[in-house]
This record gives sequence, structure tokens and C-alpha cells, in this order.
Amino acid sequence: KAKSLGKNQYCVYNDGMGVKEVRRMEIEKDLQLALENEQFYIVYQPKWNVKSNSLYGFEALIRWKHPRLGIISPGEFIPVAEETGLIVPITRWVLENACNQCNAWHEKGLTQPVSVNLSTRLFQTSSLVEMIQDVLGIMKLDPSLLELEITESMVLFDINDVVQQLHRIRSLGVRISMDDFGTGYSSIGLLDRIPIDALKLDRLFTEDINTPKKHAIINAIVLMAEDLNLDVIAEGVENHDHIEQLTQLGCHVMQGYFYGKPMKVEEIKDWINNHNTTIVTSSI
Ligand code: C2E
Ligand code: MG
Ligand code: MG
Ligand code: MG
Repeated sequence: KAKSLGKNQYCVYNDGMGVKEVRRMEIEKDLQLALENEQFYIVYQPKWNVKSNSLYGFEALIRWKHPRLGIISPGEFIPVAEETGLIVPITRWVLENACNQCNAWHEKGLTQPVSVNLSTRLFQTSSLVEMIQDVLGIMKLDPSLLELEITESMVLFDINDVVQQLHRIRSLGVRISMDDFGTGYSSIGLLDRIPIDALKLDRLFTEDINTPKKHAIINAIVLMAEDLNLDVIAEGVENHDHIEQLTQLGCHVMQGYFYGKPMKVEEIKDWINNHNTTIVTSSI
């Protein structure tokens, strides 16, 4: 009897795995066509400077509206895109659209940058710098209005090569920020070598910010960033308590559901108009 129970459990477990595998295969298969069939779109999330009470910038976040599976989060399909190499054309698409949108906002008087997330994997392809340069040229965007978010997982690759690419990107006039700082392969020593303009404090620090340990760590990061001349942006800011604590710790730029969820361009319009006086002189 025990044996057959074991066998049943094995089957159930296997079926569960099967569903996941099938979904993943479907995602891989359909990802090819998603670009052509215009199933991707971008949502933008504001970053807010609490000190000056003004907009700091927007982050572009990709979404996929799958015809059958519905909206699929980047957390699910970006890893597949990385494995298949589709991350290159997908990133190019995001860059083109985000730059285009940034230009449109710029024409309406917005002077803040838009940031785009870069997969670490892109630093292993030969054409990343050229792609960025290309898109900036085609879209005729002021490079200082583009910011690229990278993550610490870059340390897993040839760090000399990555540092060289980052220098080339930055010499184009583009800003670079370190996303999810303090979680992954955190290496503070790396800050000495990697050319960046800002640190994004991972959401995990904002959660349970009241613990003494988190306080101490955030405090240290903020002090270090000041000396290194880096902006600090707190991720995952969801409530008044977060804002109060972060402000006390000297962190003044915040991103999270409290200020605004990632929104489609149409919703951003309303959001801007609701925050208008501090963002642009005329409403959009
Ligand atoms: P990320 O760059 O660290 O983006 C922050 C994520 O946290 C976003 O999830 C955002 O929707 C979510 N978030 C923002 N505010 C809050 C908050 O107050 N509370 C909570 N709980 N979550 C919040 P999203 O959009 O699902 O993106 C997940 C990750 O996927 C991103 O993390 C980024 O690493 C990646 N990603 C998104 N778009 C792209 C892209 O175009 N290219 C690449 N390579 N990666 C992307
Ligand atoms: Mg990001
Ligand atoms: Mg992040
Ligand atoms: Mg994150």
C-alpha cells in the first residue's frame, strides 16, 4: 500500500511539473512571434525625489500580452529570452520605444530621464554598445535622458570586459544605475571599478525597514553613496512608514506603489497631470 501511495504521489508531482514544463515550452515557442505580432508593451513607473518634491525619472518595464496565457511578467519570460538569445532584439525594441516615448515627453516639457533594464547576458554579446549608440542615433534622443539599469550579477562574467563596455556606454553620455543593490552577488569593492551614477536599494531593504539591522545597513549604504557621489533610489516604497524611515536615513529618491504603479502611457498622462505643478509648467 505504501508503495502505491508513493507511486501516486510521484505521478501527481510529475503532472505538476508537466504543466510548468508545457507552459515554459509554450513561452519559448511563442516568444519568437511576440515581437512581430506586437504583443509586447511597456509600462512606466515614476521615481520621486522627496527632497525637492519633484519627478526624478521613469523606469520602463516590459509586459507581454500573450493571446492565450494573458499577461506574462518579465520575471517569467526574460530568463527564457536570455537563454534563447531573443533578449537582444527584445532589448532593442524596449530601447527604441522607451527612447521614442522619452522624446515625446521631452517635447512636452519633461526633462527627466527614462531608464531601461539591461540583462547581464547582453554584456556577453558583442554588439551591446553599438546597439545603444544605434538606437540613440535613430531616435535622436539626448543621451543624458537615457539611463540603463544593470545588476550585480555582472561580476559572474569577465569583469574587465564588462567594465570596459560600461565605460564606452557611459562615454556616450548615458547614465548607469545599479539595480537591486545589496542582494545578489553584492560586492562593494566592485563600486570602485564600475562606472555608475546611482544605486537602487533593493526592495528587501525597504520591507521591514524598522529592524535595527536594516537601519544600520541602509545608513551605511547611503553614507557610502554620498562619498562616491552616487544617487540612492529606494525600491518598493509602499507606505508612509517606508518614506519616513528612508528620509531619516538620508535616502531621498523613492520608487514604489506609494508614488505610482507601473503604468501605460495613457495612465502616466493622468498621473503627471495629478502631480503637475512640480513636474512640468504646462500639463501634458
Ligand atoms: P526591477 O528592474 O528591479 O523592477 C522592479 C520590479 O518591482 C517591477 O516588477 C515592479 O513592477 C515591481 N515594483 C515596483 N514597485 C513596487 C512596490 O512598491 N512593491 C512591490 N512589491 N513591487 C514593486 P516587474 O515589472 O514585474 O519586473 C520584474 C523584473 O523584470 C525587473 O526588476 C527587471 O529586472 C526585469 N525587467 C522588466 N522589464 C525588463 C526589460 O525590458 N528588460 C530586461 N532585461 N528586464 C526587465
Ligand atoms: Mg530596474
Ligand atoms: Mg530593481
Ligand atoms: Mg528588483
